[in-house]
Amino acid sequence: MQLLRWAGALALAVTCGPTAIAAPKGFDGKLAFNYTREVVEFGERVPGSAAHKRLEEFILRRLKLAGARVESDRFTADTPRGPLPMHNIIAKLGPATGRITMVAGHYDTKFLPNFVGANDGGASTGMLLALADTLGRDADLHSPVWLLFLDGEEAVKNWTDADSVYGSRHLVQHFVQTGLAPQIRAVLLVDMIGDRDLDIARETNSTRWVQDFIASAAQQLGYGKYFFQQETAISDDHIPFLHAGIPAVDLGDFTYGPMGPRYDSMGKYHHSPEDTMDKLSAHSFTVVGAVVLRTIELLGRQ
Ligand code: ZN
Repeated sequence: MQLLRWAGALALAVTCGPTAIAAPKGFDGKLAFNYTREVVEFGERVPGSAAHKRLEEFILRRLKLAGARVESDRFTADTPRGPLPMHNIIAKLGPATGRITMVAGHYDTKFLPNFVGANDGGASTGMLLALADTLGRDADLHSPVWLLFLDGEEAVKNWTDADSVYGSRHLVQHFVQTGLAPQIRAVLLVDMIGDRDLDIARETNSTRWVQDFIASAAQQLGYGKYFFQQETAISDDHIPFLHAGIPAVDLGDFTYGPMGPRYDSMGKYHHSPEDTMDKLSAHSFTVVGAVVLRTIELLGRQ
């Protein structure tokens, strides 16, 4: 993803809300954390690599065990490194009909020596796998939830509109062409959500009313302090959905490690070989996973 603009801290940060409800049962951050560790152990997972292929097989295996209906969207992307095979994986849970809430994340890693992307690519994959297990057990799921494992989020060379978000651009085109787009209630994108120092920014390209649902969910769970204390604009996998008129929110922590002029604009560990498991915590997965599940529930009550 690419930082577009910091708007700084919000003048009126939301720090309190209705009486907090106890943390919900039903989402296990440790499970997501452990999946992330397994994903990272595959090594560098760039499109077209053997490690990427092994990870695809791992994801497909886990999704089948979770009881998801799985679909593949395979294509060849024309990139500055030549044609590269890409593979979006879609896991469908809950009823077959009705308005769909999607949770998306990317599983590819950036072409950088020794970059294993624990938070960037790993955490989103681990979160989606844990959500598949959780939702797969949920007999009360009243409307469909699709989990999108997006490929090719990263620029294969330098970030431009043409060299980035290959998977989401391809999948959105498919959703538009097949007439599915109007059936999509909202897309919740999770990206870099495992940081042990969790602060999810209010991303300003995102759909505001969906963010309001997320803020309510976070406050109900007593997790309000982790969300939307700062504003920033990010180019990420949610943008193709927004361009197609589909409500979408980028949920991400875009301050990863020490900040400053000597470091990447998203922090010292961003796009660095230092993006490793020791920078993450199971608690951050618990917070984000629980808020995503509560948001799905709230959106379904509309
Ligand atoms: Zn990245």
